[in-house]
Amino acid sequence: MFQFSDIIGQEEVKSSLIIQAHSGKLHHAHLFLGKMGYGTFQLAMAFVKYIYCKDKQVADSCDQCANCIKITKMEHIDIHFTIPSFKKEALSKTLMPEFRNLIEQTEARFDLKDWHDYNNEKNAKIRSAECDVILHDMGLSSYENGYKTQIIWMAESLEKESNKILKILEEPNPKTLFVLIAESSVDLLPTILSRCNIHKILPLKSDTLKHYLEKDSEGKSREMLLRSVHFSEGDILEAKRYLADEDSEFPLEANLLNFLRGLISFHERKFDNINKAILQAEALASQSRPNQKKFLDYFQYFLRQLVLIKITQTCQLNENLFKAANHFANILDTDQIEVWSQLVDKYHYAIEGNANVKISFVSLAIESGKIQDREEFEKFISS
Ligand SMILES: [Zn+2]
Repeated sequence: MFQFSDIIGQEEVKSSLIIQAHSGKLHHAHLFLGKMGYGTFQLAMAFVKYIYCKDKQVADSCDQCANCIKITKMEHIDIHFTIPSFKKEALSKTLMPEFRNLIEQTEARFDLKDWHDYNNEKNAKIRSAECDVILHDMGLSSYENGYKTQIIWMAESLEKESNKILKILEEPNPKTLFVLIAESSVDLLPTILSRCNIHKILPLKSDTLKHYLEKDSEGKSREMLLRSVHFSEGDILEAKRYLADEDSEFPLEANLLNFLRGLISFHERKFDNINKAILQAEALASQSRPNQKKFLDYFQYFLRQLVLIKITQTCQLNENLFKAANHFANILDTDQIEVWSQLVDKYHYAIEGNANVKISFVSLAIESGKIQDREEFEKFISS
């Protein structure tokens, strides 16, 4: 585990990390920035392991030396982990057994959603008390005479607390390494960003992802695999979730198609058919919240494809959805699609909060219906 060879794709980043590890003037703070499903956490860990390895091979750690073994077990005394925790006073250290288990179970492919699910919790954060631990740990010198490393997983969950570690990021002790891992830089302070050497991890290429899924998804049809590749947009975890979802009682595509068909009837002024859209909205309201959110994510994906059709006349949708998309591409301008996408976002947000789900989905159906008609649309946006 935690070798470069375990990581799917990302060859350019791997090479650049290997070169940096050999350069002899290693920057003291690194930020690995990208969705966990792109391999971001694995890359950060493989980098750390390579730096510590006592018998570095040309392109990977040896996996055999004392340091490699300790890092695989996540037991190296000079490597500290900070991870988002759930309770106010809880510290990462108490959650490390869970974190190790999750890494083992998933071969280090997991994200914050998995971390929440694994602990049956939500809203994990890195809190102020945790930063005190970082300051304390990183103030000590290393035990084994090499680097002392602080790894912060999901660094964006530091939010304002990151102020506390600014100084140590700016003036660290010698032979100190900070490895921040984050999915998005939006919640990271610019002052943090400016101190880090940023490794931007890009989505996996479609072919790479497809090749990986083919080996890992026996019994899935080729079409289903292709769809999961398209829908997940380079994110292995999303692709796997999509494939798992196809087996569930809540197939996304069928549900979206029903919803869209209701809207098409609505637009064609068969008003009794608005019932179709409303019935579908009510069916969605009876789903679990994760399914509802998944549905709205899929809806957004569909709308992005719609924009693609408008601009390039091509898209990645399969035949069924493509027919529906073509219909909407013909009757909608891009400003209408944009407002539609904002609507879906609005209800995504509402459902994540505690809005009345049934009202939310019915409103989404009715407002989506209004957008289809240019005249109604003008009224809608000026209201
Ligand atoms: Zn080694």
